[in-house]
Amino acid sequence: NPALTKIAAQMSNLTGVRAIMKDIIETLQSNKGQELINLSAGNPLILSEVEQLWRDCTADLLASSEYGEVVCRYGSSQGYAPFIEAIANDFNKRYGLKLTERNILITPGSQTLYFYAANCFGGYTSSGQLKQIVLPLSPDYTGYGGVCLVPEALIAYKPSLDIDASAHRFKYRPDFSQLSITDDTGCVIFSRPCNPTGNVLTDDEVKKIADLAAPYDVPVLIDSAYAPPFPALNFTDMSLIFGENILHCTSLSKAGLPGERIGIAIGNEKLIQVLESFQTNANLHSSRYGQAIAARAINSGALVQIAEQVIRPFYQNKFAVLENTLNEAMPNNLPWFLHRGEGAIFAWLWLQDLPITDWELYQELKQVGVIVVPGSTFFPGLQEEWQHKHQCVRISLTGSDEEIVTGMQRLAKVAEQVYQRA
Ligand code: PLP
Repeated sequence: NPALTKIAAQMSNLTGVRAIMKDIIETLQSNKGQELINLSAGNPLILSEVEQLWRDCTADLLASSEYGEVVCRYGSSQGYAPFIEAIANDFNKRYGLKLTERNILITPGSQTLYFYAANCFGGYTSSGQLKQIVLPLSPDYTGYGGVCLVPEALIAYKPSLDIDASAHRFKYRPDFSQLSITDDTGCVIFSRPCNPTGNVLTDDEVKKIADLAAPYDVPVLIDSAYAPPFPALNFTDMSLIFGENILHCTSLSKAGLPGERIGIAIGNEKLIQVLESFQTNANLHSSRYGQAIAARAINSGALVQIAEQVIRPFYQNKFAVLENTLNEAMPNNLPWFLHRGEGAIFAWLWLQDLPITDWELYQELKQVGVIVVPGSTFFPGLQEEWQHKHQCVRISLTGSDEEIVTGMQRLAKVAEQVYQRA
């Protein structure tokens, strides 16, 4: 075995959700006989209209003279020009922007984009100053946990809780009395809509965060993997917020192309150039096939249409099924709180004063054939102890309606027993 560097050791750590995923895969494999309801997946479902769209765009590409240029040639680090042009035209028209091709970078998935940004803006400067990567509202996307080569750079802030006790609902809000953005901040990142909670920060909250960062020229990365215009997995109104220090980051993964790995950064030309140089060293450029078919789907308007008419209602209905089932099945006297379902493909359930940990609850749910993800894996960068971290679970909306109904009925029973035992 070769001696590993510190970075290699760090990267091979099974951190956060990866440790759970390993356990889930082993559970699924060892339980061939028993039927398990798996509500852990972050992988979007294959919806037939969406698959057909990509099939049609592929057929069009195959029949075109462009094909050889797309797959048989290297291209620019920035991305495939016709795709960049499609994005610029679409966003300019839709949001009244003045983007040129210099404002856009294409990366192999948005995870890669966060890796570049975390290491360009977070970590030690040449003068030895530690620049922090600030997550303004924890919990947030577990994938931010591993992106920085300098792990001590990542710091997350506890939210305030907006609780509607009689309705058994709640919503996280950024706690502006705590959130600190200073000269020590390298960049700010948050997902909107949020994986795992389905939260959508309000337009005002986003503007306030961007305003706090602006005096220090701190880039604010808004992870829009679930936002409009595609995949449009927002169930509440939200405006996209653009600005000098905002990098609008998105992905085609939830619009049916996770396998093609397409991430998109939109923003200030200088920030885009920094990330592009990093990309040249890391991988030259993204694959061009996915970009070529996506350009077609965007230019024809079909992608937005399918996002709004197929993808969004599909997951919004799943959330309604989950919500109605919990309303009926959960004993009213239990302190259970479902996060407001404002978007993404997950539900987030908080069981206040839960007498066992989220990990133990996960194990008990496995015993009744239901798999969810323990919530404590979704607080990357939040060092301080906080009971709330061990009182939540993430439930994927990728199950069938029957699976969601049965899964939530069983969860309600288990929760009732757990509180009674205490
Ligand atoms: N950001 C969020 C909030 C996500 O949920 C995901 C994937 O689930 C990603 C980023 C990474 O997606 P990709 O690299 O496929 O664009």
